Amino acid sequence: MHELSIANSIQEAVRAEAVRRPGVRLLKVGLRVGELAGVEPEALSFCFDALVSGTELAPLALEIETRPRRQLCRECGRTFRVVDYSIVCPDCGAAETRCIGGDELEMVYLELDET
Ligand SMILES: [Zn+2]
Repeated sequence: MHELSIANSIQEAVRAEAVRRPGVRLLKVGLRVGELAGVEPEALSFCFDALVSGTELAPLALEIETRPRRQLCRECGRTFRVVDYSIVCPDCGAAETRCIGGDELEMVYLELDET
């Protein structure tokens, strides 16, 4: 399962961070997932919780921020969100648009408790 290996890499990255910061409690990890990344956020959350539960990382939470697919119009320079797979510019009607976002898959933050 694709989501399981992603959940596993996140967990490993967090664990590495925990080793670098002894005495700090890790509360939450934020992940940005574009809709083109081919990741099912619910399945990813499920896998992540299953991996973390019962380990020293628990009860670490995973917060997934989803990002829509975005296109840039080559004609008028407008950026827009893709709805219903239409990549035609909603402003000028040009079909010459370029994908500029929506395939993100990255850790964006780690929430810590240093007290
Ligand atoms: Zn346009």
